[in-house]
Amino acid sequence: MSSRLDLVRRSFERKPSPAAAPGQKVSEYFGELVFDRPKMRKYLDPGTFEALLDCIDNGKALDSRTAEAVAKGMKEWALEHNVTHISHWFQPLTDGTAKKHDALIDYDGSGGVIERFDGRSLVQQEPDASSFPSGGLRATFEARGYTAWDPTSPVFIQDDTLCIPSVFVAYTGEALDYKTPLKRSVKAVSEAALPICKLFDPGVSKVYSYLGWEQEYFLVDEDLYSARPDLMITGRTLMGHMSSKNQQLDDHYFGSIPGRVAAFMRDLEVNALRLGIPLKTRHNEVAPNQFELAPIYGEVNLSNDQNQILMNLMESLARKHSFVVLLHEKPFEGINGSGKHNNWSLGTDTGVQLLAPGKDSLGNLQFVTFLVNVLAAVQKHNALLKASTASATNEHRLGGNEAPPAIVSAFLGRTMTEVLRKLLDLPSGTPIEIAGKKGRNVGLVEIPEIFLDNTDRNRTSPFAFTGNRFEFRAVGSSANCAGALTVLNAAVADQLVGFKAALDVQLAEGKPLEVAVMDTLKPVIREIIDVVCFDGNGYSEEWAKEAAARGLDVNKCVPELISAYTAPSSVEMFARTGVFDIRELEARNEVKWETYSKKVHIESRVMTRMAVNHIVPAAIEYKTRLLEGLKYRKDVFGSLGGRNTETELVNDIESLVDEILGLVRRMDEQRNAARAIPDARERALAYSAIASGLRELRAPIDRLEELTDDRLWPLPKYRELLFIS
Ligand code: ADP
Ligand code: MG
Repeated sequence: MSSRLDLVRRSFERKPSPAAAPGQKVSEYFGELVFDRPKMRKYLDPGTFEALLDCIDNGKALDSRTAEAVAKGMKEWALEHNVTHISHWFQPLTDGTAKKHDALIDYDGSGGVIERFDGRSLVQQEPDASSFPSGGLRATFEARGYTAWDPTSPVFIQDDTLCIPSVFVAYTGEALDYKTPLKRSVKAVSEAALPICKLFDPGVSKVYSYLGWEQEYFLVDEDLYSARPDLMITGRTLMGHMSSKNQQLDDHYFGSIPGRVAAFMRDLEVNALRLGIPLKTRHNEVAPNQFELAPIYGEVNLSNDQNQILMNLMESLARKHSFVVLLHEKPFEGINGSGKHNNWSLGTDTGVQLLAPGKDSLGNLQFVTFLVNVLAAVQKHNALLKASTASATNEHRLGGNEAPPAIVSAFLGRTMTEVLRKLLDLPSGTPIEIAGKKGRNVGLVEIPEIFLDNTDRNRTSPFAFTGNRFEFRAVGSSANCAGALTVLNAAVADQLVGFKAALDVQLAEGKPLEVAVMDTLKPVIREIIDVVCFDGNGYSEEWAKEAAARGLDVNKCVPELISAYTAPSSVEMFARTGVFDIRELEARNEVKWETYSKKVHIESRVMTRMAVNHIVPAAIEYKTRLLEGLKYRKDVFGSLGGRNTETELVNDIESLVDEILGLVRRMDEQRNAARAIPDARERALAYSAIASGLRELRAPIDRLEELTDDRLWPLPKYRELLFIS
């Protein structure tokens, strides 16, 4: 076995791997591995092409003849790319994605085989679903769930496999995945927004919700990673003394990207672009070895699939560059964690962004209408939105004074706050203009022309308005964005439906649109402006107090937060929007509690084993050496001659070892007790206490790392994990 110091040396000496050099312009290879519209046109006959577009764009059902013809065209394209297998690609309630590969072959009836891929296998598959979590929706013995093609997300090729983006549902219809409810929520918000948009422009026929994610991640050298059982098994370091240099200097953020990392990023980008993922930006993040990348935003369901594909790609490509990518929300204590800002907006098929100022005063009124309704939805469902980002891993990040606080409020910025306040004071129907475009007029409400570039950046808000979209920042780096966006879309949809009903009453009284809209909006603005809207420092203690007084949810306990999904206000909202029924909500909560408990259970086992098998032996070895030195001294000089520092060191080590072993014993007992609790929620709560115990156990271990001879320390240290690239 190589010693830790050998591993460190080897990591330092690694050279960048040659980056993929496609020798082509991006436009020439972008999307070459997806069966996108140009390929549909090329490989499908015109009738099939039209029928498929009707299915994608208008939600028409796919008949079996069309499916057959589509499969034929896809097969032809796939075989040109040496594809041998097909797989439905889906997003079960575990982390990550799942595939079941079937070879593209069948007997030809005369002893040989032929390549076969028919409409049925395109449209539907039956994975052995019993091993995916279902929260009891589908008893294991009847393992009956199936995957069904989602034609709105294009089929793509990964290695030798044709991957078919699919939903995963039980035979009884309940969703067993992330994609199904996300699609329901996309439909709900689109249908709720449309009638409102039509009042402003009858030409609108569809509303889209958009997502642009910003994916943060860490890279560590794979040899050092392999020497850390905690990283390997739990994705984060459960111990480790803070390096003397960490992020205080903020020099990483502006620094150049190191060669090895740049080679990885380039490789990742080329591969992502081939898969039609429009990666646009990359940069270093605040913490050492932390990076971020983001695509051009797209339709929510597609963009989320792309994020899932990308996370997968990152994990496999990093290995080629002798890195391991850490998507965990908090891999290193004391160092910024990783999130995934979800930039979210609504837009029409006529190209209007509903969360950006409009072309004229009517457009601006439409913008304010959507802005206010989103805020109202966030206020009503703030606890639920927080729950949608809560997990055992994100728990370490939220509320940690470097990430969004564990209170969901919205940052609006001074400009828009002033606009809303002014609207309250002026008569309904007062035009909202962009300053500079119209002559000065005392009664006017104005949005400054430079508004889009000058929205203040408040980094402490979990839900920030940034000029043409909201950034939901509480989402964790390893999360499936669908969890959060399903809730957001559904909450906004429900709010919009309520708003439209109230607006109809005003319109029925014969008021002009501008007046009716403002009369409907004013009470909503009054309700939200001093509750959910908060532009101050979200990290401050005063805010936690004030937020509680405002009626916002300030709970931080993840197992308790999960219950927000089955609170009456949530159950009713999900039922009205058709996004979840009560059975699905209850089943999903079971899965969430179960996942939480399992994760903490594993962390606790890994940590106690490492403490006993790695840390305590290293400390005892060092202590023995110190004692031997003291013994020699006594043998030679007849006394210790006042060597108090060394004896103190021995004493310190002994008491730290005692403390560690005591805490380990207690944790083992707590774990055994927690595991035996039958109720999933109660069990998760018991594990939540163990999660705090992990922090307690860490303290004496980290102190030992400080005291122990560096050559004897068995685990790669923070300074090594964080500064090698
Ligand atoms: P930041 O300045 O917050 O780092 P960027 O300007 O790089 O962010 O954008 C972050 C993400 O927001 C990108 O994925 C971008 O495409 C996306 N984005 C921009 N405008 C919108 C919008 N209207 N709706 C949704 N996402 C958007
Ligand atoms: Mg951002």
